[in-house]
Amino acid sequence: MTIQIAIDGPAGSGKSTISKIIAKKLDIIYLDTGAMYRGITYKALAQHIEPDDTLSLKTMLDDTDITFKGELLILDHVDRSEEIRTPKIAENVSSYAANKLVREELVKRQQHISQNNSIIMDGRDIGTVVLPNATHKIFLTASVDERAERRYKELIAKGHAVEMDSIREDIKKRDYDDMNRQTSPLKKAEDAHEVDTTGLTIEEVVSEIIKIVQEGE
Ligand code: C5P
Repeated sequence: MTIQIAIDGPAGSGKSTISKIIAKKLDIIYLDTGAMYRGITYKALAQHIEPDDTLSLKTMLDDTDITFKGELLILDHVDRSEEIRTPKIAENVSSYAANKLVREELVKRQQHISQNNSIIMDGRDIGTVVLPNATHKIFLTASVDERAERRYKELIAKGHAVEMDSIREDIKKRDYDDMNRQTSPLKKAEDAHEVDTTGLTIEEVVSEIIKIVQEGE
């Protein structure tokens, strides 16, 4: 049986960490849709294309190859996994992700990858738009403080010089932008299970989701 798990939630709620572990445990594909939006943002910034310049973005997208090699994001045949995780990309990605054409193009690619495959996909609109018929839908949340602390630790560990306050502000702004954009805003699908991860360990969240998946079968 094909299982398709949609994981949505705000920035820093643990979606990608949790999804990677579940993909391994269940031996299914993992697709990080946020990395695709980050890749597009990286390329658009490099080409000085503004988020509302739809015509240039279309031309750029028609000529953009995005694939994954394991967990690596390969953009136009070059590994850009590190470059897409910088604070500069985090600050700009929501503006590009709000462009309707960018969303339509990336959603099409995400749906194509998921066709006839068991998959776990994480993002903002997976349960609502990309996989409305997903077999399992999860909406992950956590307090802003806890999400900021997780992102802070992650970036410091990677050697980025960041400040807690600016990370918290970036997360709040991204939440606001993602929840209030016109095209497919971040919201919990009506049939999604909400899991609040505040104070939970990664293992606890993973087993809670595995339980939801098994009980839903
Ligand atoms: O998940 P991550 O934090 O890497 O996502 C980066 C940004 O990409 C989000 O803040 C959001 O603006 C955008 N995004 C989106 N829809 C998705 C995945 C990510 O709009 N499915």
